[in-house]
Amino acid sequence: MITGKNYIGDQQSANGQTTYTTFNPQLNIENSHVFTEATVDEINEATRLASEAFKTFRSISGEKKAHFLNAIADEILALDDELITTYCSETGLPEGRAKGERGRTVGQLRTFAELVGEGSWVEATIDTAEPERQPMPKSDIRKLMVPLGPVVVFGASNFPLAYSTAGGDTAAALAAGCPVIVKSHPMHAGTGELVASAIIRAADKTGMPNGVFSNLNSRGIEVGTQLVKHPKVKAVGFTGSIKGGRALYDLAAQREEPIPIFAEMGSINPVVILPKAIKNRGEALAKTYASSITLGTGQFCTKPGLLLGIESDALSHFVTTLSEEIVNIEPSCMLHPNIVGAYETNKAKAIAQTDLTVGVDYNSEVQPNYAKQTITIVKGSTFIENPTLHQEVFGPYSIVVQCEGANQLEQVISKLEGQLTGTVIADDTEAANYAEVISALQNRVGRIIYNGVPTGVEVCPSMVHGGPYPASTDSRFTAVGIHSIKRWVRPFSYQDWPNELLPSELKNENPLEITRTLNGKFTNQKI
Ligand code: NAP
Repeated sequence: MITGKNYIGDQQSANGQTTYTTFNPQLNIENSHVFTEATVDEINEATRLASEAFKTFRSISGEKKAHFLNAIADEILALDDELITTYCSETGLPEGRAKGERGRTVGQLRTFAELVGEGSWVEATIDTAEPERQPMPKSDIRKLMVPLGPVVVFGASNFPLAYSTAGGDTAAALAAGCPVIVKSHPMHAGTGELVASAIIRAADKTGMPNGVFSNLNSRGIEVGTQLVKHPKVKAVGFTGSIKGGRALYDLAAQREEPIPIFAEMGSINPVVILPKAIKNRGEALAKTYASSITLGTGQFCTKPGLLLGIESDALSHFVTTLSEEIVNIEPSCMLHPNIVGAYETNKAKAIAQTDLTVGVDYNSEVQPNYAKQTITIVKGSTFIENPTLHQEVFGPYSIVVQCEGANQLEQVISKLEGQLTGTVIADDTEAANYAEVISALQNRVGRIIYNGVPTGVEVCPSMVHGGPYPASTDSRFTAVGIHSIKRWVRPFSYQDWPNELLPSELKNENPLEITRTLNGKFTNQKI
């Protein structure tokens, strides 16, 4: 049941004066539940509890954490129709999408449960002592990864489950041993509260310390700002806009004790369509990309927002077909009137730039909160000179850049900001002739795709979801897949520490039978 209250640890509380509602964009009405924003005292209490909980949670066994994570997944599934209905009413997204995203969220939690249940993820590394070494004896040194402390998580509006309350950041942080405080997204506060209730029930059933999780309501920047500045908070996970992520990154850096902020932000995901491919199958590609640009009303961080090609009749034909195809797709609902507003404003700003042609703009009237899909076209030289054209327009919009040749194509790519994905569309062996173009693209992105569409992020260990700034604030890490746990830990060494006082992962007997690096060799042997 949705109450509109905050979860301060396992207690519900609503002491504040500021209230707000969520919005149903399909019906164009406010939803009925009223949410109360967290007060300064409630923020302080959530961080105090998280800090207390960390004292025990940081060294809870992997087996117990696995029970907790699996219990969260079970409790989310048990929310059943109430969760799906609330999700749909707060986003305008269809039931199928809600169920798919729930499946992904539950899958992520179970994958982390498996990871920590097995235990080798801590990268235990042991260099045994050499007392006889000359000229100096060598100490026994043992290293493993330890959790950072309480983590604050900000989710994005377009993934109310998979990148929000119990999404990838929360799952990874809890798996690492870090208590989590979620700054709830105001657009899906009801979905967030339901998921928070599932986490609290799971924590209770599996004996986790109170404060291991809190969920704070907020509809503006104040609660988030206070959380990022709070001395008891030790790291931040953010998914959202470049503006928001950058503001929080700067705030984290200005603290007396700066803390890491892992912000996953916007991207325009360049797609390079090479000449043979566009000549051989331009029409089919136009259809594929019209669908990919409008998928989920263009509200995916991996939407192809930039299509790059070399001037030719085939490229002109591709642009015409893409424009025809995209306008034939029925407009669809966006998440919220604010997102529609931002889409129209950012699109208008792009269109107002000089030397740009509007290939197609859905001209007839659409229902309230529905987006008009748009394609624009520029020359390579215009794009290189005008950084405004490089900015993300979040929604069903894409720009086609017609380059004079391979050199200009490489220059265009080199001028881009960091991106989540880059795609190469090629036929036969032509990619081999564009090594410099592909190399430039690799230097700008976190994931490179061959003959596919970037929309869609598989959750698996080899996935990199991140990239050079501003795709993310730290390109050394991924936000998706098991390796995302590395954002919430730090390496820690024991020197000559008595065996009985070492954590299980580092004991001579290797009681967890995990894989370790012992004197330079991977093994699960005892010492
Ligand atoms: P957003 O406006 O940046 O909001 C995300 C969250 O951050 C909200 O809870 C928001 O709170 C908070 N926030 C934003 N600015 C803040 C500030 N200055 N101080 C404190 N809190 C702040 O993003 P969104 O509209 O929800 O999501 C769409 C964006 O997310 C798109 O740009 C999309 O590309 C990106 N995205 C990226 C990924 C990825 O993995 N890289 C995935 C999904 C989405 P308030 O709303 O209360 O201000």
